[in-house]
This record gives sequence, C-alpha cells and structure tokens, in this order.
Amino acid sequence: MPISANDTKRKSWLSVPENSDFPIQNIPFGVFLTKENIVTVGTRIGDYAIDLGALQQMNYFSGIELTDDMFMQDTLNDFISDGKKTWRLVRNRIADIFDEQNPQLRDNDKHKDIIIFNIDDVEMQLPVLIGDYTDFYSSKEHAINMGKMFRTEENALLPNWSHMPIAYHGRSSTIIPSGIPVHRPLGQSLPHGEETPVIGPSRSIDFELETAFITTDANIMGEMIPISEAEDYIFGMVMLNDWTSRDILKWEYLPLGPFLSKNFATSISPWIVTMDALEPFKVPGPKQVPSPLPYLQQKGKHSFDIHLEAAIQPENGTENVVSKSNFKHLYWTMNQQLTHHASSGCRINSGDMMGSGAISGANKENYGSMLELTWGGKNPIKLNDGTERKFINDYDTVIMKGFCKNSQVRIGFGELCSQLLPPFVRK
Ligand code: MN
Repeated sequence: MPISANDTKRKSWLSVPENSDFPIQNIPFGVFLTKENIVTVGTRIGDYAIDLGALQQMNYFSGIELTDDMFMQDTLNDFISDGKKTWRLVRNRIADIFDEQNPQLRDNDKHKDIIIFNIDDVEMQLPVLIGDYTDFYSSKEHAINMGKMFRTEENALLPNWSHMPIAYHGRSSTIIPSGIPVHRPLGQSLPHGEETPVIGPSRSIDFELETAFITTDANIMGEMIPISEAEDYIFGMVMLNDWTSRDILKWEYLPLGPFLSKNFATSISPWIVTMDALEPFKVPGPKQVPSPLPYLQQKGKHSFDIHLEAAIQPENGTENVVSKSNFKHLYWTMNQQLTHHASSGCRINSGDMMGSGAISGANKENYGSMLELTWGGKNPIKLNDGTERKFINDYDTVIMKGFCKNSQVRIGFGELCSQLLPPFVRK
C-alpha cells in the first residue's frame, strides 16, 4: 500500500507556518487534554491539534476497520496494536481530509469547531502507556568518549560493543512528557579522593541527547524477530532526554550498570513521528566493522538523516545551543536493536519504548551530553549570559529538537523542554 500521505505536492487547507515541523506530510500521533477536560488521541498540522476521536465519531474514517472507541482513549496503545496497515490507512486518510482540494471538512464549520484546536489550548500528555523501557548505548563516538573518561584510551571500547547493541533495562514509571519539570535527585556518591560515600543532592545532573522508538506487539515469548521484519514492528519515534546523575552513576554502575542515576526521570517529546513519515529520510548507517553475526546483518538504508540539537536556557535567559548531532551517526540501527532485544526470546509489546543512547558525532560540538561536551567538567561551557556550565543548574531548562529536511519537505518532532528544579521537598 503506497504512503499517499507523504506526497510532497499536497497542501493543507489549514495554514502551516514556514519551517514548521508539522506540515501535512508529517501527521504524527499523540494524546492531548482539551480545556473541557476531554482526553483524546490526536494529530497535528501546523499549530493546530486535531481530535481524532471526534473525527471518527463524525464518520471521517468510514471504510477503515477500527474499533468504535479507537481514538477516544488516553493512550495510543490499542491503535499501535492494530499494526502497520492500519497506521498507514489512517495517516493516508487524515492527509486526504485536510488536503486543500477536499471540501468535506474544509467547508463544514460546525465540524471544524469540534475537531480542531489551537495547539496552545491543549495540554500534551504521554502518548503511550509505556510497559517496558530499554535504553541502548549505540553511538560509537559516545561509547568511546565514556570509555576514555571512565577507563583508559586503549580500552575505551569494550570488546563486546562492536558485536551487539549494548543496553540496560530502564524504568517506565518516571517517563514524562515535555513540559513536566524534573527534581534534582538525592543519591549516594563517592566524593573525589574519599573512601566513604555520602548521601545528598546529586552535584552533576546531565542530559543525554537521544531518540527513542515505540514498538507494536512483535512476538510471543521465546520467539525471535528476524532482522528483515524488525521495521514492521516499529510505530514511530520521539526525542528523548535521558536525564543522568553523573556522580551517582560513577559510584553505582559497576558491576550491573545504571540504576538510580537514571531512574529519577526520562523526558520524551509528545508527538510520535511515524516511520512512514520518516521514510523519505532513510540513509545508510555507518559501515560496521567487524561484520555483525548473521542474525544482525542487513543490506540497504536503515538509518535516518535526523538533525538533533540540545540547548540550555537559564532561568530568565535565552536558549544556548550546546550540541548539534545527527541520528545517522548511530552505529547500531533500530532494526538491529529490536532484533537483538528479542533474540533471547524477550517479549516485545505494543507501547514498549527503546532509547538510542546518547547520540554523539565525531567532533566536540556534536557530543550528546554535558559530560562529553565539558570533558568531565574540565572545560566548562560559557553561556550567552556570561555564566558557565559544567552540568545542568537548578532552574535551567534543557531543550531538545529533532528534524529532517530535504528540498521539498521538513518533518520534525517539535520541542522537548524540561526544567530542572531543586530536590523535592516533602510537604
Ligand atoms: Mn542513555
């Protein structure tokens, strides 16, 4: 079935600002709350939020097999469970409904009043109930930088890294959408030169510039996912800020990996951009040497050209872009991550989320975390208000953006903004 929603010649009767992340060729999926306290599944064109529950009730999806309350829900899990064919049919239909040539809704003011909201009048929610969350470590540049700082130059990359996508199982209970602030966590750390640990507010809160993908039901327990099929089980992508306490991490990570240093918060952007929308931006990933084992081998284009950016905005200050990276630098592809994840027989469900790991590029300005950008705090970053940052200060807002662009269309993720607050105080 062709992806007619991607037709770059199509224009919408809804106005779309120049350089918007959300032209009619994007059609992402999310969940929002209206001023009347109604929660619904929706999409976005330009600066308009569109109520898909209302569209369905008014019969705009007739001919597509959907359960009656598919979009009148507070998560996308059921829709994601329906599979790729349904996602494509619905996205193609939305493109038709909002095509400037189509008068059906365009000329029906009564329906438009019920279906279309100004984006500023809705509150974005977490788009999926995330059952399980896994965070990979798939950027070679990031892994080498971490290895150089925590171990030695010669042993920067551990021997297993080049043979499989390394990951840890994360925590889904503290995944939050853009806009929700994060409290600086308390934790144990070992101060430099000391032999006894202390408990207290973390002294080095960092971001990790990541993307994540959301899966549909992909297998039964015990069943592998062949690499050639992996892509069919990926619904779409979001931006992800993997908040990390570097001092807690340093003390706790051996022998089992990250725990409290990362489970206090993980922020994601609220609109899931579908793999169909990203299709025109497929590119080959980095050459993989040594060649992966057969179950991880794939030919062709399986990475994506997605520009990534992280900025720090101090309280009452302006944005300072501190990192510019690109998804295409990622060594292991999402297909390889998913296939490897299930290769043990691990069950993958609708609404599971898998993070990329911090995505760093080759040069200093492409590093995906403050730890790398300041090289462990040795080279602080100067902000435009004259202050310096080694890590993130209380009341700073971290802003992440991601977008794809060619001569015909720009497809983006919008903003992922989250402010860091001082430690939580129990009332
Ligand atoms: Mn991470």
